[in-house]
Order: sequence, then C-alpha cells, then structure tokens
Amino acid sequence: MDLYGYGEIRTPIFEDTAVFARGIGEETDIVGKEMYSFTDKGGASITLRPEMTAPVIRAYIQHGMGEQGLLDKLWYMGPMFRQERPQAGRYRQFHQFGFECIGQSNPDCDAEIIAMAAEVYRRLDITCTLKVNSVGDSLCRPVYRQVLREYLAGVAEQLSPDSLRRMNTNPMRVLDSKDPADRSATTAAPVMSDFLCDACREHFNAVLSKLRMLDIDFCVDPTLVRGLDYYTRTAFEFVSTDLGSQDALGGGGRYDGLVEQFGGKSTPAVGFASGMERVLIVMEKNGYAFPEMSPDVYIIALDAESRSWAFKTAIMLRTAGLRVELDYAGRSMKAQLREANRMKAVRVVIVGEKEMAEEKAIVKRMEDGMQTEVSFEELHSALSRQP
Ligand code: AMP
Repeated sequence: MDLYGYGEIRTPIFEDTAVFARGIGEETDIVGKEMYSFTDKGGASITLRPEMTAPVIRAYIQHGMGEQGLLDKLWYMGPMFRQERPQAGRYRQFHQFGFECIGQSNPDCDAEIIAMAAEVYRRLDITCTLKVNSVGDSLCRPVYRQVLREYLAGVAEQLSPDSLRRMNTNPMRVLDSKDPADRSATTAAPVMSDFLCDACREHFNAVLSKLRMLDIDFCVDPTLVRGLDYYTRTAFEFVSTDLGSQDALGGGGRYDGLVEQFGGKSTPAVGFASGMERVLIVMEKNGYAFPEMSPDVYIIALDAESRSWAFKTAIMLRTAGLRVELDYAGRSMKAQLREANRMKAVRVVIVGEKEMAEEKAIVKRMEDGMQTEVSFEELHSALSRQP
C-alpha cells in the first residue's frame, strides 16, 4: 500500500445502520439478511460493519477529506461481521483488507487497483483467476434492467421466492443468486455488456487494455455482478480453485455514485476488498511455511535463586532486543529442556547453584549441542552474536 501511495484509515467497528442500508442497497443479501444490527440504549439502530467501503465514504464526507486535499487513496484492514451460516471460508466474524481510490474517474485507477490486488496475491504466491465485467452506469443500466426484468418474467415460474421478489426491485441480483434453479433459469438471460452506453464501453475497453499492457491475465465474465449495489462500470473478482464453493478471494469495482448518495459532492471512486481467512486457506493448501516465533534464548533455571536471576535476566535480554522464554512453573531441568526443544529455541542458557556462585552460565547451541561457559557480564553480547 505504501508503494502505491495509500494511507491507512481506521473507522469504528459499528456505524449507524443507515450507513450500510443506504450504501450497500436494501435488496442485497448483506442488508437483507446478514447485518448484525442492534438498538443501543439511546434507541439508535447500530450495525457491526459488514464491509468497509460505506464507512470509508461516510468518514470521507464527514471529515471533508475531499475539500481539505487530504489523502484520497486509502487502505484498511480489520474485522467485518455478517450473519451467515458458518462454513469453510464463510464466518460470522472475518477479516478483510482493502483499498479505495476516491476522486478519480480515470480507467487507469481501475487498472491500478486491480494491479495492486494482483501484486498482493502474487507476493503471497497465490495463483488465482481475475474476472472482470462492466455493470454499466445510471444511463445504460436502467435500460438493461428493464430488458432483464422482461426476460425474468418469462421464466418466473422457475425462480426461487427470493429471486421472484427481486425480479422487480433489483433484477440484477437474480443473476448473482447461488440457487441452482435460478442459475439454470438465467443461463440465457441478456447480459449487461450488450447494453453498455458508449462512455461505459469506452471506459471498460480502456481498463482492459491497461490490464493487457500490465500483463495481468483476466477473463471477461458477463455474468459477474457482485453482491453490493453501489458498483458502476468496472466490477471484478479474484477467484481460486483452492477455495471450493466459496471461491472468491476478493473483489471490487467502481462506485461513482456512492459519495453523492451519501450526501457528498458527485465524486467517482474505485476500490477492492479481500477476505483474509480465504487468503490463509489458499496459502495453507499451497504448503506455505508460516514463520515460527521461536525464541532466541530459553533460560533454564534449576533452583529458587537461579530462577530469580533468570526472571531478571530474561527481562533485561528482552529489553536488549532478544526473544526470550523461560519456565514459570518450577519444572525439572529435563522438562524445561523439552519445552525449549518444542519451542525450537536457538540457544538455552542453563543456571543452577554452581553457576550462580561462579557468576557464569552454560550456553548451549541447540542445533549441534555445543556448550560454552559465559560470564553473566558477557552474556548479552555472547547471545547477540550469530549462533
Ligand atoms: P464482499 O465484500 O462481499 O465483496 O467480500 C469480499 C471478500 O471478503 C470475499 O471475496 C471473501 O474473501 C471475503 N468474505 C466475505 N464474506 C465472508 C465471510 N462471511 N467469511 C469469510 N470471508 C468473507
């Protein structure tokens, strides 16, 4: 995020319910059935954030970030909440990282956001497929919606009750349904790409040509609509075959109408969000070796006096920058050594009655068992050297 000039934004874990209801759209799954909404003691309806774009835009407007010339390229990371049936890759509290570029309509910004996301996944050695589509804008989408509505009316008897309801309020949501009956009823449905206005088509082509220029592989998926209503023009999603049925790693798109919808000045924007648990699932499947937090030093103390010394020395060595562990339970030497081995300590320091009397500790390199005696005074510098 630093390399691309994005600054971090942190917003509260909950917002007024209206922030999400208005921003994401009443007919979406998130607002319709997945929000954790509560009434607070003052009678206000508040909601645990299910996503971050709406809070970021709320903050952007509230703090006049646009007018003040403050950073308008923002990234975030944190917990999100959705009331869903928990299953692999789908949790009620999960984490997302994401970024938003506010104030630019240039298709370069769409391509840049996609490039950033692709680069994050590339650095984590994640292989995934990028799907892109254009969902049009307020000029061309109403025309398409009407055509789609007419098509859906023709297959109405095959649709699920949810889709039947949405057919009139938000017909594009029907294309996003996971219900097999809805899916088969809509295989021949008209697609947005055939109805794009000239400006949207030009924007979409520009994004695609920038992606080609950057050698970013993608496929155009005319059925991709994404689960949030605020998208305009570009919509995209990264999917991974390592994820099973919940195959979306992350996604995003352009949302040129959202700032205005929240009462701000008309401001174009584009953003992306990735699930973090899903990233970890793919990394684990790929056999990624997560770094271990093994201690530099494990101090083994054999009696009360040396335990007291060990405690003080551990704090001192940690202050000096070493990762130090020790036993708090008064266990035997053998048990402490076993623990040091289990933690994969690089070295152990052993002190007992004799060492306390001589003010020297035994330092043992765990890799090959090599032992040396080191005076208490020189302990820190000896332990700071390469093992
Ligand atoms: P969305 O905000 O719905 O576009 O979701 C963006 C990404 O967040 C998805 O691609 C997932 O990786 C992740 N995500 C969404 N909902 C959940 C959930 N319930 N549990 C875990 N990850 C999720």
